[in-house]
Amino acid sequence: MTYACFECGSEVEYDYLIKHKLKCTKCKEKRSNIWVKKRPPVTKTVIAR
Ligand SMILES: [Zn+2]
Repeated sequence: MTYACFECGSEVEYDYLIKHKLKCTKCKEKRSNIWVKKRPPVTKTVIAR
């Protein structure tokens, strides 16, 4: 599953998020709700509100 940072648009894998504790290493955002599921039109959910 690929996720995209809502702030800077960088795309990362879920494993990457876990590894970095949901922190975006590109824009330094540490909130968990900046990540948006990148893939398919099935479900577009934001992680943890
Ligand atoms: Zn970012």
